[in-house]
Amino acid sequence: MRLILLGPPGGGKGTVAKRLHAEFNIPVISTGVILREAVEKKSKLGIEVENIMSKGGLVPDRIILEIIKERIKQEDCKNGYIFDGFPRNIEQANSLEKLNEELNEYIDYVFYFEILFSEIIQRLSTRRVCKKCSINYNLSFNPTKKDNACDLCGGELYQREDDKEETIKNRLKVFAKQTIPLKKYYKEKKLLKVIDANFSENAFLAIKKVLRGMHK
Ligand code: AMP
Repeated sequence: MRLILLGPPGGGKGTVAKRLHAEFNIPVISTGVILREAVEKKSKLGIEVENIMSKGGLVPDRIILEIIKERIKQEDCKNGYIFDGFPRNIEQANSLEKLNEELNEYIDYVFYFEILFSEIIQRLSTRRVCKKCSINYNLSFNPTKKDNACDLCGGELYQREDDKEETIKNRLKVFAKQTIPLKKYYKEKKLLKVIDANFSENAFLAIKKVLRGMHK
């Protein structure tokens, strides 16, 4: 099962991806998580992308494609994967299609997370992430039990550099210009399913229903 979760930053893709992983035991490939780890480690890649990410821009396609090529050939991806945050523009989607053809693989579904932009700004500015396991929390509607400590692993929480208000606005602009065209792209390929993402629980259940149908 090969899936793409498509949608705005703060649309709940990461949270739903983790639940899908727990349900179907398929690895999540989040380019954002991979890049943030590289920044944290101060690796060559991290140093190259840090500035772009902190401004909310897109990292060059060649870097992203190298990451993806490397990752999907690993053993744990042989029964599929869930892309969270990739592809982000038409060029990346075309490159993915080519790569899938080379590997004789195909994408089963693209789930588009539909959510109001006003809701996103509110969600992102109150989002906090666990440093250790990268689970997301929200100060307003999904706080941790203990202040500033992850419920699952006890890790410290932090606010992502790009979750500051000015950067959020830029990320939404980039999303509107570069990523929204993928909705039409995948609709034409008959892969698109639009999901109401105003509540992540409902989004998860809607996707699960579609995927359970696949196995009947
Ligand atoms: P995310 O966690 O998906 O919101 O990604 C955080 C940041 O990482 C984005 O704002 C981009 O700077 C970068 N990024 C993640 N995925 C991609 C991608 N597929 N293409 C380009 N840049 C990306």
